[in-house]
Amino acid sequence: MNQLSDRINNLATSATLAMAAKARELRAEGKDIIGLSLGEPDFNTPDFIKDAAIEAINQNYNSYTPVDGYVELKEAIINKFKRDNNLSYTLPQVVVSTGAKQSLANIASVMLNTGDEVILPCPYWVSYSDIVKLSDGVPVEVQTSIENDFKMTAEQLEAAITPKTKMIWYSSPCNPSGSVYSKAELRALADVLQKYPNIYVVSDEIYEHINFVGGHFSMAEFDDMYDRTITVNGVSKAFAMTGWRIGYIGAPDWIARACNKMQGQITSGANCIAQRAVITALEAEPSSIKYMVDEFKERRKLILGLLNDIEGFKTNEPEGAFYVFPNISAYFGKTIKGKTINNASDFSLFLLEEALVATVTGEAFGNPDCIRISYAASQDNIIEAVSRIKAALS
Ligand code: PMP
Ligand code: GLU
Repeated sequence: MNQLSDRINNLATSATLAMAAKARELRAEGKDIIGLSLGEPDFNTPDFIKDAAIEAINQNYNSYTPVDGYVELKEAIINKFKRDNNLSYTLPQVVVSTGAKQSLANIASVMLNTGDEVILPCPYWVSYSDIVKLSDGVPVEVQTSIENDFKMTAEQLEAAITPKTKMIWYSSPCNPSGSVYSKAELRALADVLQKYPNIYVVSDEIYEHINFVGGHFSMAEFDDMYDRTITVNGVSKAFAMTGWRIGYIGAPDWIARACNKMQGQITSGANCIAQRAVITALEAEPSSIKYMVDEFKERRKLILGLLNDIEGFKTNEPEGAFYVFPNISAYFGKTIKGKTINNASDFSLFLLEEALVATVTGEAFGNPDCIRISYAASQDNIIEAVSRIKAALS
């Protein structure tokens, strides 16, 4: 008999992590899988950051850390917010967590009551909806279109608001579409929110530095949005530090204090060595990681060129992050190699089995017509993967 709680029984497994695990399993069976499923830079953490970690170990940073992070790290975060985002936060407004994922889970649990609605422009990052549900919130999906670069318009936002709307969560640059909201587009959304002073915004900016068009703008930069925006960021993507598990928020201080209290009962402060290393990472100029961003830009050009050559793939030009999110619905209803493709999950599974390429179904991101392909992989792997995809579909 299933003795587990309804909470866990109703929770979906993270589709990105599940696909990565499946690819790993198939590789262990000897299959030559190319993994384009996980959003994880394939670079090593820069040496100057690793050196800071080694130094921290040698200096005996081994004790429990303050729940909300070392003061020196919070100061580095405050300086980073000022330098890169024109945002002023004070120490009580900043909370360091075990990855931005924990930052998001904290926010959901301190902000949502049962039945509170959270507007998620689709496609959204895979874990948003289940993190919201875990806190008894209700995700409200707003479908966007590829023609509008997968961005939510002011009209769509207004139409989705109900008396139960508590929050809006989005990422810019967006995982999975790569879209970057301009200042004008964010202003249009903020204008709608002027009529609804009790709606809060989560602005997930973890891909901030992986931006090929420039012009990153934070919702909290608008004076009238500052007091109701939670800015989420982290070092996983820009600094190639996914396994170090450090994320952080800048927020109104009553929200930050609540996150601190929540974290104090669940995990305590984030890892001591990782925190010391992140001080060094954040104090460095963003130009120190430009070589990775330049390489992602090259790969973006490469993969877009190759995918455009495959019939039935319709792709927007992502402005940031390291994903493409092609619409592949032209294949729905077709049978290829004896396999019928009825939806994006069938398509992604087909690519795994017939092309030995791991991708993620768009269904996990709230868009059932697309798949997500991560190009955080070598150019050789990208070329080989797309050529296999093309061969399998022809
Ligand atoms: N937000 C977005 C949009 C992401 O893609 C990720 C990727 N893992 C996260 C948050 C969480 O990042 P992490 O927990 O590694 O800091
Ligand atoms: N954010 C990455 C992704 O979207 C990492 C996997 C995860 O944390 O779910 O693939």
